[in-house]
Amino acid sequence: MRMLRVRLTLFGICFFLLSWLSGTSHAAHSFLPAAGESLTEYDELRQDHKLKLSFLKVGQGDAAILILPNGKTVLIDGGPPEAGEVILHKLIEAGIQKLDLVVSTHPDVDHIGGLITVIQQVPVMAVLDSGKPYYSLTYKLYRRSIRKRRLPFEYAKEGVYLPLDPDVSIQVMNNGKKKLENNESSIVLKIRYQRADFLLTGDADVKTEREMIEKYDMHADVLKVGHHGSYTSTSRAFLRQVNPLFAVISYERGNPYGHPHRSVLRRLKRFGIQMYRTADGDVEFETDGRSISVNGDMPLPLVR
Ligand SMILES: [Zn+2]
Repeated sequence: MRMLRVRLTLFGICFFLLSWLSGTSHAAHSFLPAAGESLTEYDELRQDHKLKLSFLKVGQGDAAILILPNGKTVLIDGGPPEAGEVILHKLIEAGIQKLDLVVSTHPDVDHIGGLITVIQQVPVMAVLDSGKPYYSLTYKLYRRSIRKRRLPFEYAKEGVYLPLDPDVSIQVMNNGKKKLENNESSIVLKIRYQRADFLLTGDADVKTEREMIEKYDMHADVLKVGHHGSYTSTSRAFLRQVNPLFAVISYERGNPYGHPHRSVLRRLKRFGIQMYRTADGDVEFETDGRSISVNGDMPLPLVR
């Protein structure tokens, strides 16, 4: 435990130094690095005005990092507690020094566990929460970490758009208000950048999927499959509406829940959807709004 704390403190110092250095060297000329300085991945994305969404290998749980074309950064879920450090590494590796928004889709430990470490170690501008309270120790620690850092904390409202980048629409399609169970409380986000649509459903269940189909245009090119590929999500009617090219399932091999369930895998296959799994490693999408690439492969043009 003490070892972990020492390492986490080191991360904190690293972040501080990185932020300070970038603050001094970049201040005069926007985000372009000074001569002799190498570009981080983050700088490159900003220069090319690209959007990147990475689903991280965090064991049995969900975590995704979104880098918007204007450089704003969002962390959507933090995986289980031990994933906190994995995320810190990823942020440093990508050259991300602060998070403009942290979204916690719902209060289950495999989504908020790793957020506690991130909130303690990384400058975070605001936290968006599902609005579903929970009585677990992890949830209490998560709320305490936000209070301790005095972060702006807000409950997601259904239907609203998150104003992070004027070129990207991010709409909340579900929240935890008046919901009884954690999974159905999941914040669902649809992220649209020109022709590229991403749908992040947290652990939203079939009933919630039905409600959303009735209210919204659910089409997306990339679907983060609900609830780690459990049969409680991803109905046929929902898949027909979303009609994705790619699906990402976030889980750990050999998990005790048997995720992803065979019926869901079969359904995704029958729809001809290209499947990716975080169990095999991070799954990274990059788009300029007209075409999309996965894990650095040849970009595919987007038609709709
Ligand atoms: Zn989950």
